[in-house]
Amino acid sequence: MDLFVTLIGTAASVPTSARGTAATLIARGGERWLVDCGEGTQRQLLRSGQGLVDLDRILITHMHGDHYLGLPGLFKTYGLRGRERPLELIGPRGLIRLMEAMQPIIGRLPFPVDLEEIDEPGPAVALRGDGFRFDAFPTRHSIPSVGYALVEDPRPGAFDLDAARALGVTPGPDFGLLQRGEEVVTPAGRTVRPDEVLGAARPGRTVVITGDTEPCDATREAARGAAVLVHEATFLDEDRARARETRHTTAREAAELARDAGVGLLVLTHLSSRCAPSDVRAEAGAVFPETLVPRDFDQIEIPFPERGEPLVHPVRGRARPAAADGASEAPATFPAE
Ligand SMILES: [Zn+2]
Ligand SMILES: [Zn+2]
Repeated sequence: MDLFVTLIGTAASVPTSARGTAATLIARGGERWLVDCGEGTQRQLLRSGQGLVDLDRILITHMHGDHYLGLPGLFKTYGLRGRERPLELIGPRGLIRLMEAMQPIIGRLPFPVDLEEIDEPGPAVALRGDGFRFDAFPTRHSIPSVGYALVEDPRPGAFDLDAARALGVTPGPDFGLLQRGEEVVTPAGRTVRPDEVLGAARPGRTVVITGDTEPCDATREAARGAAVLVHEATFLDEDRARARETRHTTAREAAELARDAGVGLLVLTHLSSRCAPSDVRAEAGAVFPETLVPRDFDQIEIPFPERGEPLVHPVRGRARPAAADGASEAPATFPAE
């Protein structure tokens, strides 16, 4: 099953000419989830080539504006399209109060918005689906905040064709039954159990998105062995004191955490316009070489572990603004949110 993570917005606090504020799209098979929805996410989705996806679930990491201000516009557009299907909005403490406050702005919608506020502390299952779940884990930021981990269920072991044939199973529907965990009886009358023809269960994939946070144990635990960790890196290590003050993470700290958790690929987001992405990459890469500092709209394909490492598909067919390389992103001194 396909699994993609698309970086829709990677800027901290304020958009730049090259980067939108926080939004990450996860696509697994036919399902889509958006984690955070910063201002302008609608247009970012359109520009990313993903289109204005009809999302059924949006997960918010915390109630700072650069992570939720895109919601009213997106909801209005869904309303104008005549959407009737319910939309589930998940977030930490403060979500219900925020939505009440935004009610006069959003107005009447032709579809229900179901709110799920996650109680702190402690990891919790935020939602469950066919073959996967989303865990929410408590992160450490200046207001209540959570990160999310998409965790796939383990898969059945590989089917051993030779073993099945040797046991006398007839190729065809009986192979499928065994793969689905059912016993079959061979023409010779022998009962064959699935464990006689299936290898050990194979792990699924895990994708973790932190939102804004200091480095913390909950992220380290959620990210243990994850295929991809999308971690914020608002500062360089020379500004570590400022990172503590504002409860953010430096590029080096994110890399140390990724190394300790043994992740496959570290993706750094929530980049400050004061830091050149090349500096962020150099600092993190010195600690953890499997680090990507993406541009907006970069897409990461995550194969099953036995099929190889995550692949990065830079956005194609579109000229990038020169500023996307970072060196010419205008310096600014906004407080980090
Ligand atoms: Zn933020
Ligand atoms: Zn924040």
